[in-house]
Amino acid sequence: MLAPFTAGWQSSDLHPLVIEKSEGSYVYDSNGRKYLDSLAGLWCTALGGNEPRLVAAATAQLNTLPFYHSFWNRTTKPSLDLAKELLETFTANKMAKAFFTNSGSEANDTQVKLVWYYNNALGRPDKKKFIARAKSYHGSTLIAASLSGLPALHQKFDLPAPFVLHTDCPHYWRYHLPGETEEEFSTRLAKNLEELILKEGPETIAAFIAEPVMGAGGVIPPPATYFEKIQAVVKKYDILFIADEVICAFGRLGTMYGCDKYNIKPDLVSVAKALSSAYMPIGAVLVSPKVSDVIYSQSNKLGSFSHGFTYSGHPVACAVAIEALKIYKERKFVEKVRNIAPRFQDGIKAFSDSPIIGEIRGTGLILGTEFTDNKSPNDPFPSEWGVGAYFGAQCEKHGMLVRVAGDNIMMSPPFIITPEEVDQLISIYGIALKATEERVKE
Ligand code: PLP
Repeated sequence: MLAPFTAGWQSSDLHPLVIEKSEGSYVYDSNGRKYLDSLAGLWCTALGGNEPRLVAAATAQLNTLPFYHSFWNRTTKPSLDLAKELLETFTANKMAKAFFTNSGSEANDTQVKLVWYYNNALGRPDKKKFIARAKSYHGSTLIAASLSGLPALHQKFDLPAPFVLHTDCPHYWRYHLPGETEEEFSTRLAKNLEELILKEGPETIAAFIAEPVMGAGGVIPPPATYFEKIQAVVKKYDILFIADEVICAFGRLGTMYGCDKYNIKPDLVSVAKALSSAYMPIGAVLVSPKVSDVIYSQSNKLGSFSHGFTYSGHPVACAVAIEALKIYKERKFVEKVRNIAPRFQDGIKAFSDSPIIGEIRGTGLILGTEFTDNKSPNDPFPSEWGVGAYFGAQCEKHGMLVRVAGDNIMMSPPFIITPEEVDQLISIYGIALKATEERVKE
């Protein structure tokens, strides 16, 4: 029997739900059943299931040049064009270079090498450690999983790697002290971060990495003033700030990037997922002049940045991503998400009074529900009750797919979702919630 979890293993013995077709905000299984895809695949199919322009872009590129690599100063036009277009989309801070990967995990692994290379080029090889946050998710490769702050990604694998440290998860509802305001909570977390840096020695800390809104850890938007205070600490000790925008980028929060929403001025940015609306696997690292100037400086004696993937800048993936960026801009998706977000957020948050819901949280088109008893973060339901799993199964029964992680439910619908589809999503959520409340009462 294969391990009953994760994406890599494939076995029909486990009776998976086989998805065969997608159309707009919906997917269809192999029995022809239709589901509203409330997670947009895996937080990624921003343009939904059958955007013909993306298919046309891929087809045209496949017919012209299905592949060429981008090593040794050779490259392809889609790769060059995408780098230019992508850099222009990021305005929170100037970005000078784009480095292409196949995924978000590879983007975050690339970040670690870039940061190490940068510090080596500056003659400070001991500035090597990374600080990430508890409950963060940065990917599944050895280094990205190390950066992640989810115990399940560490315990079975001798991770995290020793150069990775974790600081507090900024989840106000769960971790604030009695009487502590959001601002005070943020001040305390920034102070804890500073204490960690001082304990380890600032000369050993290379970078801090954060998702603007934490995704897989349960959808956790930052508390008020959090990033302002954290950035001040990071800056004080000459520590690079890496924004992991793999979920937030391209409009999900109602701003082009999460950095725009929270006034984050990162030195490095990771993107993937909606970059191509997930029609082709592609990720990227955006590099600020502060970092790239060192790497490209005449006085840098380290030689080339010896890192890259066969499929870095894959022309078909790049052609699709160029078209996706064009569509986001032409159809004003940032504005569209901002307009539809209140219907989605308010509609679901109206269920907050449910006796089995501890907290509903989110912003833009991303939302998490946490089931707890007594409305308290400290009273989880016994895991054997499977409250979250039951809710997920009820959603599925009534025609909607959600993400379930224990008693956390996550949703991030495609940017194309219509008001009627939002209403349908809310209606199915309500039906599933009622059934789950009944079940918990039993
Ligand atoms: N970073 C964040 C914030 C993510 O949510 C994810 C995936 O969900 C990743 C990185 C890893 O991306 P990938 O699965 O493409 O490797």
